[in-house]
Amino acid sequence: MFENLTDRLEAVFKKLRGHGVLTEEHIAEAMREVRMALLEADVNYQVARDFVDSVSAKALGREVSQKLSPGQQVIKIVRDELVELLGGSTEQIRFDGRQPVTIMMAGLQGSGKTTTAGKLAAQFKDSGRRPYLVPADIYRPAAIEQLQILGDRVGVPVHPSTADTKPVDICRRAVAAARENNYDTLIIDTAGRLHIDEQLMGELKEIQTAVDLSEILFVADAMTGQDAVTVADTFNKNLEITGVVLTKMEGDARGGAALSIKRVTGKPIMYVGTGEGLDALETFHPDRTASRILGMGDVLTLIEKAEAVVDKQEADRIARKLKRSEFTLEDFLDQIQQIKKMGSLEQIMSMVPGINKLRQIKDAPQPNEKELVKTEAIIRSMTRKERTNHRIIDASRRQRIAAGSGTSVAEVNRVLKSYTEMLKMLKKMRGKPGAMSGMKRRK
Ligand code: GDP
Repeated sequence: MFENLTDRLEAVFKKLRGHGVLTEEHIAEAMREVRMALLEADVNYQVARDFVDSVSAKALGREVSQKLSPGQQVIKIVRDELVELLGGSTEQIRFDGRQPVTIMMAGLQGSGKTTTAGKLAAQFKDSGRRPYLVPADIYRPAAIEQLQILGDRVGVPVHPSTADTKPVDICRRAVAAARENNYDTLIIDTAGRLHIDEQLMGELKEIQTAVDLSEILFVADAMTGQDAVTVADTFNKNLEITGVVLTKMEGDARGGAALSIKRVTGKPIMYVGTGEGLDALETFHPDRTASRILGMGDVLTLIEKAEAVVDKQEADRIARKLKRSEFTLEDFLDQIQQIKKMGSLEQIMSMVPGINKLRQIKDAPQPNEKELVKTEAIIRSMTRKERTNHRIIDASRRQRIAAGSGTSVAEVNRVLKSYTEMLKMLKKMRGKPGAMSGMKRRK
């Protein structure tokens, strides 16, 4: 997400920080570069221009704390403006007591409506609501079945729609069924077209008039950049959407849609899709995203992800072991397992502050998925005895482990070395009172 923009902006800021005193020319030059960076990220032309004008005006007026150096002041202004550009505050679905709360998904075909409907249903269910999925796409063959399958996978009931019923009638009946069965959240998946057309809009409007909708979420593929923004604008003019979901964000290195859509439509991004899996949907936080774009990481999302997958008892068990420095290779393996549950390593690393800088250093060790897989294979090729007491792993055992895991002795040595380094670090931390307290889970 946003990698290209991050690289460009970091270069601009590095230059800015290099100046002891900032002149108007320095700022003007930096702003020209920021504008170019935004345009290359496929940000809407007018949006990029307004952004730079606003930052320039504030930078020249220096509306910030004098405690910061001049370069830092400009960076802070850029950050604040980015947060605004991305929507300001986090916007969430209004669960406003309507019975049921009804959410309609709208967007072009292939944008990710059906998948997002399934992801939302899973999240709502996890948070204790009683969602009900409503397929209202009667044109695309198998669309009803696709939602049915998703519903089964996430354990959420699906309305028994049939392709010979008008979408508006399906929705009316689904609302009645929801009331009867106490489902409190309806998610309507509608038909999409390859292009916007009158009939599609007419049908959505008909549903809007007949059903008391709480939200109309416009779903768009982030990779389509400015096209997504234009289509969002048209949907908004016709339907008054209430929020946006950008899918396939994990593959979008530029970020033009995310950076333009709020300014152009006035409607907030509420969620971003970050993968095909049903857990790959994140609430969109403008402030965290701005930090990520500026290479400052997104530690809050990282913590939330960790909390979602880490089992409390397991975490407590490990914490106790860490305290007593009894952390074995077996525990190391468990930890790798937990990390893998959080998503791809690439996604996790993108949230770590400063990681972009590490990527730019040529010989720095680069975190990569393959290494993790190898480490796992190596530990799995050890016997239980070896995992609980690494000291017995001599040369011949190392050879056996390398052969068993399809790696080399050098690679086995590397894993053992990083494990022993970790043990050493833990011993040191144990010696310092208070150093371990930060490892407790928050809740
Ligand atoms: P619809 O026609 O709008 O209902 O789109 P679908 O929900 O059928 O999605 C189209 C394709 O996009 C499917 O292959 C989905 O798996 C994929 N997709 C949806 N959301 C995401 C996402 O956030 N990331 C990725 N990589 N793929 C996604």
